[in-house]
Amino acid sequence: MQGLMMDFPLTITSIMEHAERVHGAQEIVSVTRDNPRHRYTYADAFGRVRQLANAMNAWGMASSDRIATLAWNDYRHFETYYASACSGYVCHTINPRLFPEQIVYIINHAEDQFVFLDPDFWPLIEQVAPQCPGVKGWVVMTTAEHMPETTLANVHCYEDVIANQPDSFDWPAIDENEACALCYTSGTTGNPKGVLYSHRSTVLHTYATMMPDSMNISSADVVLPIVPMFHVNAWGNPYACPVAGAKMVMPGNKMGDGPTLAALINEEGVTMSAGVPTVWLNLLAHLRSTGERVDTLQRVVVGGSACPLSVMEEFDTYGVDTRHAWGMTEMSPLGTSNSSGARRHQYDAETFANMRTNVGQPIFGVEVKITDDDNKELPWDGVAFGALKVRGPWICSSYFKLDGSSAHEDGDWFETGDVASIDSRGNVSITDRTKDVIKSGGEWISSIEVENCATGHPMVAEAAVIGRIHPKWGERPLLIVVKNGEGDVSPSELKAFLDGKIAKWWIPDDVQYIEEMPHTATGKIQKMKLREMFNDYQFPA
Ligand code: ADP
Repeated sequence: MQGLMMDFPLTITSIMEHAERVHGAQEIVSVTRDNPRHRYTYADAFGRVRQLANAMNAWGMASSDRIATLAWNDYRHFETYYASACSGYVCHTINPRLFPEQIVYIINHAEDQFVFLDPDFWPLIEQVAPQCPGVKGWVVMTTAEHMPETTLANVHCYEDVIANQPDSFDWPAIDENEACALCYTSGTTGNPKGVLYSHRSTVLHTYATMMPDSMNISSADVVLPIVPMFHVNAWGNPYACPVAGAKMVMPGNKMGDGPTLAALINEEGVTMSAGVPTVWLNLLAHLRSTGERVDTLQRVVVGGSACPLSVMEEFDTYGVDTRHAWGMTEMSPLGTSNSSGARRHQYDAETFANMRTNVGQPIFGVEVKITDDDNKELPWDGVAFGALKVRGPWICSSYFKLDGSSAHEDGDWFETGDVASIDSRGNVSITDRTKDVIKSGGEWISSIEVENCATGHPMVAEAAVIGRIHPKWGERPLLIVVKNGEGDVSPSELKAFLDGKIAKWWIPDDVQYIEEMPHTATGKIQKMKLREMFNDYQFPA
């Protein structure tokens, strides 16, 4: 017997209509190049979304055509998200930090019809446009007086595009399984691969991100998404905030700027923020040097790469709870979340410190398992580690226009490329990326755990561990450090610091110092680059 409930589609349009009707008066504040503090309401935003939808409609595109964005987190980007998805097009967010050749590749691969761009990326677009013959128009997200001078054809000004358009629009009915957004993975090897989200997957993921043990987003929140909207849809914040009626504060191109972030938090009353570990280093450095505080901020969600314990403990001193989360582009992105901070009073300091570095439990909707080299499932005992696999309604089933691409190597499970252990309560500890694993004498060493401990030394700004060839052990760990400020710390001091914190045989054999850590387009340490830099390195005899 079937249930007798309405078969009602889960769409981005329904998020928009709910937000406008119920939370129309809530604010969206943005930093843009033409206005350091733009503010308006959800009602204003969705009025302009309808104007933009009318303009797009006149461009004569077909359903599911791709509209690209190369933009920071701000209100015009938000409007483009909604106008394209709710019109039945696909909003393809491009990471501007990719190499120009990769941007050309993904614009052409996605067959983008129009590209919306922040004026900051104008020089980049002038460089790539001649190689993207399929693009029918370039829309610069600014006002007429801030438009760049150009000889390039088909360049439009965003504000002119929407000016004089009616602010009513007849939204099309959309099947919930239709695509709404497209995001390419960074592609550290080979070409980037497109992950194509559906309306349904996005709405389900939105519910999941709002749950108390995940990002816990409510109408009482003021949310500062530092994670870019070009990086897996800012982890879903641009959908969750309108659903909850949370005020949004968008940092524009100032997301890496400690003083701006502190000012936005304090002046706008930010309660929750989300970003990769590196952005917090800038904010914390600013707070440390000025003595400023961030009293309204209750919690930060940190993911994208492992969050060092030292970052969490520094946030503690400001009364900010750090929520460590794990996910990936192929997972929309949220997979697990560590909400142990809410239960910290139940534990002694050491137990709590151990609990918080793992990435937490799978959020409902995401199933996880670990397997060995023969695809045999491993126990959840907190000890065994193996390939981490996931499945669920917001996890990619195959890549865009890559038929036969193996998103699934093990039945209907998606292979994350991470190595992990899982304890009896489902807490996941990410040990490594499969390709970064260090094998010493046949045994795995967790580079993430060694890095996490090393970053706890006050003289270490950033640390990375890579495996290098060793005549006896096959591979041994080499610790690479960017020092904090002017002071000094010797290899033997660092090794002594690690002693007792990690297994003795995990302690790196040597330490090398570099001026700057190479990062990927999404702010992760580029281990491949480090391995190249230290290709000829040999451990001291
Ligand atoms: P995103 O774009 O969301 O960063 P990517 O697909 O680029 O996702 O990268 C996902 C990978 O980042 C994961 O497979 C994992 O290796 C790493 N990662 C994400 N979050 C964490 C975390 N909290 N701890 C360790 N690694 C993480």
